[in-house]
Amino acid sequence: MTEQKSRLLITNAHLLHPERSELTEESWIEAVDGRITASGSGHPPSSSCDNVRVLDAAGSTVMPGLIDAHVHILLTTIDFTEFHSWSASYTAVRALREAGRMLRRGFTTIRDVGGADYGMAKVLDEQLMAGPRLIFGGSALSQTGGHGDLRSLSDRSVSCCGNGVHFTRIADGVAAVRAAARDEFRKGAHHLKIMASGGVASPHDEISAVQYSDEELRAAVEEADNHNRYVTVHAYHPRAINRALNAGVRCVEHGNLVDDETIKLLVEKDAFLVPTLVTYEQLALQGRQSGLSESSCRKIDDVRFAGLDGLERAHKAGVNLVYGSDLLGSMHPHQLNEFALRAQVQPNVDIIRSATTTAARLLRMEGQIGTLSIGAHADMLILRGDPLQDISVLTSPEKQLRYVIRAGLPIEVAE
Ligand code: ZN
Ligand code: ZN
Repeated sequence: MTEQKSRLLITNAHLLHPERSELTEESWIEAVDGRITASGSGHPPSSSCDNVRVLDAAGSTVMPGLIDAHVHILLTTIDFTEFHSWSASYTAVRALREAGRMLRRGFTTIRDVGGADYGMAKVLDEQLMAGPRLIFGGSALSQTGGHGDLRSLSDRSVSCCGNGVHFTRIADGVAAVRAAARDEFRKGAHHLKIMASGGVASPHDEISAVQYSDEELRAAVEEADNHNRYVTVHAYHPRAINRALNAGVRCVEHGNLVDDETIKLLVEKDAFLVPTLVTYEQLALQGRQSGLSESSCRKIDDVRFAGLDGLERAHKAGVNLVYGSDLLGSMHPHQLNEFALRAQVQPNVDIIRSATTTAARLLRMEGQIGTLSIGAHADMLILRGDPLQDISVLTSPEKQLRYVIRAGLPIEVAE
């Protein structure tokens, strides 16, 4: 007896191929056992198999599922005092609920850059709960007093970050950085995240501070390289970004304060930049009432206004740009607003590529996700309207996103 295969056939669809900036004539696309197996124009060839689920797209657009390359699914609150009072199980269930919401916004893959681990990825992989594919990096590395050191000034304890859920870990010195990197890779991390400059959420560092020495950064890169992985850094300004890139770091998060020299270096190194404009917009709007500390609130404007200009210059110079949101807690519903912010300075197709093909390249999953190519995972969106013409087609899923399909399984979203 042959095993029953699960087939999905979508008909009457316009296929959006981000790599070719193309929306096809009326077409069909087929997935078998979670992979795209065939597509073509006009009517599909008749199938002898009767175990096929057919979705009539009725003229809608089918595009690859979106990738958000900068999330923290564990941080479902912005109030770190509250966060540290939670148990690991409570934190995980809240995180998985948010992951489910991300899927229904159209994100079929997320890259977590601080906190999520193999257990959470396994739950989503086995589809024990609905959610995107989770590419995780384990705990981010921070030096003492760095962006990942959230102890208060009065805290004299020598280790950090209480409840068994660690979105960062402290490592000082080359040997400790190597040991921490090896430990994260032992636990299956897909990348290593390093805090290389000051940040907004950390209570006692300046944005303009540089964190970690050249030797520590090079050690992290060597460890990542040895494991066939890569390093990504949290960094805002040229001083921190240039050092990281020269140490061999492959990806930069935020980068709001980039200058032209740094942009040139990003291009030369073929590195990736993941701007996260929406988080500063939302922190400015709701940070204070959501429990963000006073010292953090004061730092938001240091990076917020420069971000869009930096993105525009990086885009014009041809930097590999990837979609990121970096939202925390109650800010998560705005995950798609990054599209609207970027549309002020970038053509729609380039923003769509940042959330599909370019993101897939960063994740070293080219041809597997972010594409409708044959053999790719059947992660797709069925949308009313054409996001190449109108980016708001992506930003209002409750009206425009008819189905989100993850590994060939469709979930109905809009009416
Ligand atoms: Zn960051
Ligand atoms: Zn972040």
